[in-house]
Amino acid sequence: MSQTCPCGTGLDYNDCCGRFLDQGAYPQRADLLMRSRFTAYVRRNRTYLIKTWHPDTCPALTENDLNGTEWLTLEVITHHSGLKKATVEFKAWYQTPQGAQCHHERSLFKKVKNRWVYLNPIAE
Ligand SMILES: [Zn+2]
Repeated sequence: MSQTCPCGTGLDYNDCCGRFLDQGAYPQRADLLMRSRFTAYVRRNRTYLIKTWHPDTCPALTENDLNGTEWLTLEVITHHSGLKKATVEFKAWYQTPQGAQCHHERSLFKKVKNRWVYLNPIAE
């Protein structure tokens, strides 16, 4: 079954975040990890979100946390990457009774055991 990936690349899901969520591949760049995490929110894939969260900051994510929000689209604005740290600025749109709202964040990612993981939002 073919469907466009929710993360905004325009690619087919199976050629995009599906490789990471369903096929066991791991994103080699923080911006790809960011996209795949957005897709995991859309698809309510709790296991993937925990797997890609830094263990020091990963919350006790419940099914309820994921069911509360209907995510719409993602826009990755900037991506800066070093060897061990990366930042990704993005806008993620979600549905509310008052219309679409935007979550704007600059996120910090770290490389742990050779894998990028999400650490936390960066305070402005
Ligand atoms: Zn994708």
